Amino acid sequence: MTKTKLNSGYVDCACRDCVEIAITSGGPALCWECEEAGCSAEGTDECLRSDAYGQDEGPESDELIQEINSLLAQAVWVAS
Ligand SMILES: [Zn+2]
Ligand SMILES: [Zn+2]
Repeated sequence: MTKTKLNSGYVDCACRDCVEIAITSGGPALCWECEEAGCSAEGTDECLRSDAYGQDEGPESDELIQEINSLLAQAVWVAS
């Protein structure tokens, strides 16, 4: 057998929700961000990264923009 299959290299992050690339030395591996966040390498739990999938974006940011716009409108009203 001259063919050697190395199990090390780049793999998909083992975290369930993560699409990052991780470096493995064989077996499931987490990308460094998931390592930092303490994600599960079994892929059984949701990603613990705070920035996963940009979950902070969404309806809330629309409301925030509306709030800023109304504040700006008020400021213009007061200034004129
Ligand atoms: Zn990851
Ligand atoms: Zn994760």
